[in-house]
Amino acid sequence: MKNLAQYYVDLLVKLGILRFSILLALALVALAVVVQVGLTLVFNGFVDDIDIIRSVFFGLIITPWAVYFLSVVVDQLEESRQRLSKLVSKLKDMRFRDQELNYELQQNIAKLNQEIEERIKAEEARKEAMVDLENEVYQREKTQMELAEQSALLRSFIDASPDLIYYRNANGIFSGCNRAMEELIGKRESELVGLSPQEVYTEDVASLVIETDEHVFKNNCSITYEQWLEYPDGRKSYFEIRKVPFYSNDGRHLGLVGFGRDITERKRHEESLEKASREKTTFISTVSHELRTPLNGIVGLSRMLLDTKLDDEQRKHMQTINVSAVTLGNIFNDIIDMDKFDRRKLELIPEALNFEDFIVEIDSLASLMAEQKGLRFDLDRLTDIPSVIEVDATRLRQVLWNLLSNAMKFTREGGVVMTVSADIHESDVEILIDIEDTGVGIPDAELEKIFAMYYQVKSDKGNLHAVGTGIGLAVSKQLMNMMNGDISVSSEEGFGSTFTVSFTAPLIDDSMLITEMPCEQKSLNIFMVEDIELNVTVARSLLESLGHTVTVAMTGQEALDKFRVDTFDLAFLDIQLPDMTGFDVAKIIRERFEEQSLPPLVALTANVLKDKSEYLKKGMDDVVSKPLSVAAIKDVIDKLVNDDNRPEDIINEMDKQSGQEISEMAHEEQKYHQILDIDMLTSYVDIVGVKPVLDSIEMFEELMPGYIEVLDSNMMAKDQDSIVSEAHKIKGAAGSIGLARIQKVAQKAQTPDAPAWWENISDWVDEIKNEYSKDIQLLKQWLESR
Ligand code: ADP
Repeated sequence: MKNLAQYYVDLLVKLGILRFSILLALALVALAVVVQVGLTLVFNGFVDDIDIIRSVFFGLIITPWAVYFLSVVVDQLEESRQRLSKLVSKLKDMRFRDQELNYELQQNIAKLNQEIEERIKAEEARKEAMVDLENEVYQREKTQMELAEQSALLRSFIDASPDLIYYRNANGIFSGCNRAMEELIGKRESELVGLSPQEVYTEDVASLVIETDEHVFKNNCSITYEQWLEYPDGRKSYFEIRKVPFYSNDGRHLGLVGFGRDITERKRHEESLEKASREKTTFISTVSHELRTPLNGIVGLSRMLLDTKLDDEQRKHMQTINVSAVTLGNIFNDIIDMDKFDRRKLELIPEALNFEDFIVEIDSLASLMAEQKGLRFDLDRLTDIPSVIEVDATRLRQVLWNLLSNAMKFTREGGVVMTVSADIHESDVEILIDIEDTGVGIPDAELEKIFAMYYQVKSDKGNLHAVGTGIGLAVSKQLMNMMNGDISVSSEEGFGSTFTVSFTAPLIDDSMLITEMPCEQKSLNIFMVEDIELNVTVARSLLESLGHTVTVAMTGQEALDKFRVDTFDLAFLDIQLPDMTGFDVAKIIRERFEEQSLPPLVALTANVLKDKSEYLKKGMDDVVSKPLSVAAIKDVIDKLVNDDNRPEDIINEMDKQSGQEISEMAHEEQKYHQILDIDMLTSYVDIVGVKPVLDSIEMFEELMPGYIEVLDSNMMAKDQDSIVSEAHKIKGAAGSIGLARIQKVAQKAQTPDAPAWWENISDWVDEIKNEYSKDIQLLKQWLESR
């Protein structure tokens, strides 16, 4: 029925109400007819027409009602169906949304689960990490503690170190230092950090620091050097400084660490050793110098005697005396040169030399020497020889003489050949001189060593080596090197040796030589004050051989008696005379002939010339060393007699006075005057009394050791400025208590512009150091005497 009803509804909707009504009417009519006919047939057994008509009517009447009823039902049904379908679609939507939500929900749930899982895992990891962290923190704390302990230990090591330790970053800025360094710079570490070397050190110290820093960084290597550094109180110490670069693990350059070791004591020790050795050499060379005076007499007189009539035996003996004395003289020369080398005082004096004559002179001397030893001597000129070259002839002669005497000394038979060759260029000439002997020769292994100081080949073949010092070759080689030349040797043991001297010298125009050579000096009247007979004889023969006339005085008094201002052209005054010094003679002469023009007064000294200005100050016009040499005499005459340019003006009035003062020093009162500023002290004591002066002296005595320590360290450091400033303090302090002598010396020490300041400063400092206590004693004595 339900399906039928639906069928109706669908049909109604499909056909529309009209057609459906007609269809329904037809159906109802048909139904009514069927039912009427059926029922009538059953009951009546027949069917009338009326029955059919009635049925049709019935069907037609009932149809509208049925249609209306059905359509209402249908409408309602339709309405409810539509509502229903709307509902259904809504429900569908809802369901769909529900499904979507459900899906989302599931997804979220899955996500949530995942997150939860992750969170659980993270939690676990966190817990693990926490444990690790705790461990790590613990470890770190432990290591930190250990580190702190270690660094405290290290720090105390570093601070306890007497060496300087500091570090600077890559920009050269200080980042730390130890206590020794703090003491040096007079700053706490915290004050030092952040400063640059320029802000810490003086300018010159800083520049060396920066220079060495750059070297370390540039070459990526450590460096060690020595440097003077100054403490805040002015004291200086000599440090051996080592700088080491340091890098991070990844090779980044972080800076450098510096270590400084105070080696002042070592330096002092070294210097005193050096000084002692220098003094020893100076002593030896002074002695040698002294010995050369009598030796010169032996050489001169033996040569003179050789010109007299002698029998053969006497002549032979005399020749031996002469050659031995010449050899000894050469040895002394070497010793004196050695001292000069030591003091770096040896200077070459290159002058025009007639080389041809020079070779001839060597040839004749060598022939004479060879003859005496029964050897041959030959001179070979391989090429043309330049006539005039510029060279220090004395030194070249010394070298050749050395080689020639060695050649003859180490040769028993055969001879010596000297070969000279010259390669002449436009302005200079290369000269080669070979000296070849047929002597004992030198073993190969010794060839280089023989040029070392004091080296002598050890040999058991006779005592050929007995005479000699092992100095000659060393000095000769140094001399040749100074001339930009050299000496080399080749030798075959048992057969002989060849020494080769090579050097290059400028060529000189012959004409210049003639004008420059002071040979043609006019004959002079020379006054000579010399007390040693031997020296007189030698000098007299030398001067006379040069064409001069000589008048001799042998004592100071005799000199004063004999001296005539118009008679003499030149006077040589020996310094050490039996009755007075040459300076005294000069002073008296100058005083006596004040107004007149004196001949030049030239000092003769047997001492090693220390400082010429000293002689000039003490009244001399010049000074020459004894024994007199032809060159020295010619020089002096050229300079002083042939030239009006006399250095008298150099001697100033003050120095003359000081000379006078020295001679008066014998008297006690004068001594006070020399050492103390008596005028100042007298008025001082008169005004304030003795006590304050004594107090000042006490204070001075307390201050001086400090001053002297600073002065000493600066002397070692050769720091002129600091020496001067310390000397200035001493001068002030000494002046304030009337120590005139110390004040005067300190005044010199504080005047670095004065000539030869560096040469004298050590003497002045020594004088201050050694004399001030004595002067204080004298001052106290003087105070007592009042
Ligand atoms: P000295 O001759 O005073 O010993 P030198 O410095 O002149 O000192 O010479 C050093 C050494 O060289 C000599 O002692 C000698 O052993 C060796 N020597 C120098 N010249 C010769 C030479 N011509 N023949 C052999 N040996 C020589």
